[in-house]
Amino acid sequence: MNQPLAPGSELSTIPADLLAVDAAEMRALGYRVVDQVVEQIAARGDGSAVRTGDPAELRAALGGPVPVTPGDPLSAMQDLVDIALTHTQHTDHARYFARVPGPATFPAVLGDRLATGFQAFAGCWVGGSGPTTVEIVVLDWLRQLLGLPDGTQGILLSGGSMANMTGLIAVRAVLGDGVMYLSDQTHSSISRGLRALGLPPEHVRALATGEDLRLDAGAADPQKWSFQPYDIGALLVRRPGVLDQAFSMNPEYLIDVTSAGASDIAADFGEVDLRNRGLELSRRSRALKLWLTLRTYGTDTLARAIERGIALADHAASLLRANRRWQVVTAAQLGIVTFARRGTADGDHARAVADLTTDGYATLSTTMLHGRSRLRLCTINPATTEADLRGTIERLAMSLAG
Ligand SMILES: *Cc1c(COP(=O)(O)O)cnc(C)c1O
Repeated sequence: MNQPLAPGSELSTIPADLLAVDAAEMRALGYRVVDQVVEQIAARGDGSAVRTGDPAELRAALGGPVPVTPGDPLSAMQDLVDIALTHTQHTDHARYFARVPGPATFPAVLGDRLATGFQAFAGCWVGGSGPTTVEIVVLDWLRQLLGLPDGTQGILLSGGSMANMTGLIAVRAVLGDGVMYLSDQTHSSISRGLRALGLPPEHVRALATGEDLRLDAGAADPQKWSFQPYDIGALLVRRPGVLDQAFSMNPEYLIDVTSAGASDIAADFGEVDLRNRGLELSRRSRALKLWLTLRTYGTDTLARAIERGIALADHAASLLRANRRWQVVTAAQLGIVTFARRGTADGDHARAVADLTTDGYATLSTTMLHGRSRLRLCTINPATTEADLRGTIERLAMSLAG
């Protein structure tokens, strides 16, 4: 390591702004990125739905000694595109049916790039009143779409896990310890969150679900279906002030001298410091992409895209029902259908999925429901066609027959 400079001694030998990239070169590199992204999105149905690399080969191609001297950004970028970014799951692929796909829209990608390019900060009012307002507006749009009451407050987080965890921390901070009731199908991020919070296991009760795997409560998650790139998840809390009560932190060095004062935590019309609603202090703006998506498409079009995803699962179920060798285990609900091939041995489903995934044509999930191995399609990508579903089911049938 180099010795730190003695104050003032060598400043003249280090040029100002030595990390700057010349404007013409920024444009050339930036346009290249746009071209690569557009190419990828336009051809996303052609490549593999998932491609997983060999650890040693990937390490050899992307590793090497610490780069000490400058290199060519274009060729480095090409390595990222050709090697790192081809070995990934393409959750926006038309035949990516595993877990919950992520068919991000292009306006959302642009919103995300804008936020990064402007180093948009959404941690406090004084430093980020614009991005904060975009976030408050987006949260209020979500509140209205979900029919939640006035006064509901929220925050955008990295995803469902952090939203669940942040909500649990807030509830516990404000109401104290209690017993947590979950369904036996509750997302595993909740139990992990509870473990991380130190809730004793005897304070967590799992309620058994029936044949249909449901409890008698409504509501599925909005964040999976807003067509956003990673990362984004929304937490909305009906009771005003709960998040600020749980997370407020105002040490001297964070107080903004230009701020009008404490934000009005009972209403979202004042100066909101979003750093006080969760555990993130340096927060990027996740709201810009969702705001741009909503402004570009409007909810009518987005709702139709969601309806198409739901209808695709219904269509998959009807294709399966047309052949008595298939059994639909849970009827299509909210874009998900689970099914099984009658008479298969343990491990057959997983093997068929592995074959299809390695081939690259499509991918889907296997799961265990009430102790039995099941196949699961999640069909929320509006780009998916009936032919994609038919092709996937036919290939599974062939693989399970052979
Ligand atoms: C998807 C999901 C999660 C996990 O979300 P991440 O964004 O992957 O952290 C947690 N809980 C529920 C209910 C979900 O649907």
